[in-house]
Amino acid sequence: MRPFTHHAPSDLETALQLLSDLGSQAVILAGGTDLLLNLREGTLEPDSVVSLRQVAELRGIHEDKHGLRIGATTTLRDIIRSQLLHRQHPCLVHAASLIGSVQVRSLATIGGNLCNAAPSADMAPPLLALDAEVLLVSTKGKRQLPLQDFFRGPGEQALQAGELLSEIILPHPQGETIYLKHSFRAYMDIAAVGVALRLHANGGTFAAARVALGAVAPTPMRAKAAEQELEGQAPSEDRFARAAALAAEACTPIDDVRAPAWYRRRIVEILTRRGLTALWQGTEQVAG
Ligand SMILES: Cc1cc2nc3c(=O)[nH]c(=O)nc-3n(C[C@H](O)[C@H](O)[C@H](O)COP(=O)(O)OP(=O)(O)OC[C@H]3O[C@@H](n4cnc5c(N)ncnc54)[C@H](O)[C@@H]3O)c2cc1C
Repeated sequence: MRPFTHHAPSDLETALQLLSDLGSQAVILAGGTDLLLNLREGTLEPDSVVSLRQVAELRGIHEDKHGLRIGATTTLRDIIRSQLLHRQHPCLVHAASLIGSVQVRSLATIGGNLCNAAPSADMAPPLLALDAEVLLVSTKGKRQLPLQDFFRGPGEQALQAGELLSEIILPHPQGETIYLKHSFRAYMDIAAVGVALRLHANGGTFAAARVALGAVAPTPMRAKAAEQELEGQAPSEDRFARAAALAAEACTPIDDVRAPAWYRRRIVEILTRRGLTALWQGTEQVAG
């Protein structure tokens, strides 16, 4: 590993000033569970690492009149232990519990999971299904983006030089959301396919539907044609089957060591159909 200077600011203002002063030669460290692998393998060789671990403003889960705000350095362990999330967004608790091991979840942060921008990032599909937004800050100011506009490609997101992700913003929960992860080992395996679904029923039809997919395109994505098949419509097995087929059509998986593209597409269809039925019937347990 090439030597670098380690900075550990204790407040957000200092962190942002450091990122602005150090420019493109600095990288951000949160939990380090992705970054340290890149440093060790030499795929990243920064002059400086700016750790966010002591910046208290970036960690924690708070409720306000618009919904919930999750600080970017909130760990997956904090998420699993949050009573607020258990009550309002249990799908996030479930998604976090599927990542890595106890040791990984104690370090790994929700912000790191999004900023690393892996197509298979497990926190991304449920956050997309919940209409999450992200707050990006720098010495120049703040900007808020829908999460779906944050992802740009494998390992690429909308952050500009000197900017960091400070918060994930969730509107009040509407309807029920689930996350289904398909992987080949029960533990410590990244998703071959991830499917998050939200259904908000109102008077016998769906006022809102979300179908979000992971590991089947260059970025986590929403399958909008599938959502349109459901919105404003009454539930039926045929409709769920058509929405599931549209979700499978919308994704663009690749063949890789984990699974061939045709298999991933088929799993998207199966999980989407199974998940929609389970959500509608109020079934708690659905196998991924
Ligand atoms: C054994 C193992 C198993 C794993 N299993 C899974 C799995 O099943 N599913 C899964 O999704 N992931 C898995 N991961 C990946 C990893 O744990 C997650 O992606 C983790 O959430 C990353 O968070 P972090 O805080 O460790 O990020 P870091 O490693 O600190 O950072 C990741 C990237 O994001 C940038 N970054 C971090 N925070 C910010 C911020 N606030 N603003 C701007 N940029 C930022 C960093 O510069 C870096 O480029 C696994 C990792 C390991 C080691």
